[in-house]
Amino acid sequence: MDHLEAFLNFAEQSPTAFHAIANLKEDLLEAGFRELREKDPWLVDAGGKYFVIRNDSAVIAFAIPRSGFAPWRIAAAHSDSPTFKLKPRFEDLSESAYLRLNVEKYGGMILSTWLDRPLSIAGRLVIREENRIRTRLVNLDRDAVLIPNMPIHFNRDVNDGYRWNPQVDLLPLYGEGDAAGKLMKELADAAEVKPEEILSHDLFLYSRQPGSVWGADDAFFSCGRIDDLECAWGCMRAFLQEEPRENIAVCAVFDNEEVGSLSRQGADSTFLYDTLTRVGFALGASDGEIRAAMADGFMVSADNAHAVHPNHPEKYDRQNRVYMNRGVVIKHNANQKYTTDAVSDAVFSLICEKAEVPVQHFSNRSDIPGGSTLGNLSNSHVSMSTVDIGLAQLAMHSACETAGTKDLAYLIRALGAFWE
Ligand code: ZN
Repeated sequence: MDHLEAFLNFAEQSPTAFHAIANLKEDLLEAGFRELREKDPWLVDAGGKYFVIRNDSAVIAFAIPRSGFAPWRIAAAHSDSPTFKLKPRFEDLSESAYLRLNVEKYGGMILSTWLDRPLSIAGRLVIREENRIRTRLVNLDRDAVLIPNMPIHFNRDVNDGYRWNPQVDLLPLYGEGDAAGKLMKELADAAEVKPEEILSHDLFLYSRQPGSVWGADDAFFSCGRIDDLECAWGCMRAFLQEEPRENIAVCAVFDNEEVGSLSRQGADSTFLYDTLTRVGFALGASDGEIRAAMADGFMVSADNAHAVHPNHPEKYDRQNRVYMNRGVVIKHNANQKYTTDAVSDAVFSLICEKAEVPVQHFSNRSDIPGGSTLGNLSNSHVSMSTVDIGLAQLAMHSACETAGTKDLAYLIRALGAFWE
């Protein structure tokens, strides 16, 4: 299976951050990595390979060289994507004829792209089990709900820019008036538990549109959640292919980037700092040596970038614009929304040159503010030289995004060279 096919498979099997991390965990276990739990003491050895998961939705994996403690070489991406989350009580009867689901926005999506397409529901259930609780992933894995548009006859202005109200326009339809209780039953069946055992839930909508490769010479592919599963999967794939020699290789996938990264499993938490320091101490390094290894470390923050839109080329900076299938994007911003500076740019460019991977440079137009990424948030806890990169894509935060078929392999090659 080539990289792209394997990625499309992964994206389809990863409707939520929980599923993405569960799938990455499977790959790590298969590659011989051992899971460490944060609440236990850690015993780690030179030459060993480990990972730690927080909240079922973020993972940090690391591989230690045979020589033992060494500076860090970190790549980081994120597991979450904009979607809708079901509220704690989600059944909402309309006209005694329709059962809708009460949902709220998670992150900043293009709202209109979620209408009139089959959607499903996935996430995590918390189950009562005798005297304890446990979590269970769930995925209905069928066309289960849909958010219907108003007919144009009642919404004549819809093509002139319509303001979608998430509490009014965007509630998905699940059943007719007699469908109360049926979704909980369906979720319980899918998770193989009884409805009364479900104590709580984190459930999200996802698009059922399968991934596809399209266009002249199969130049493009489309699916949901390309931002940032493409980088998360690409980083992990490169990570699993390399044996660390002189540095500790770290691959981190954080959750909640789309809502500010402030959770305990986000990039703006102590997760990375906690993990790095615990690894250092477990390997017998002193506090001073751990700080020195951070100062000598390097981080690649990988989150997708905006390719020039074919219909709106005027929205992009004249000199620093990027295109799909033309290689890894290095992102720059004078106000440090991206962490890249001349040094980290040069270091990463040289790595790409060695790997024969083309590099492009992205900067926003000065009159258009850009988004920020994991790099600067993570740096507030673990400060090291960092480069912000990504792969060029279209329609970021649409329910169906588009990217170039050649770029994933470029990312994997570049990161392979980074860890080598
Ligand atoms: Zn992103």
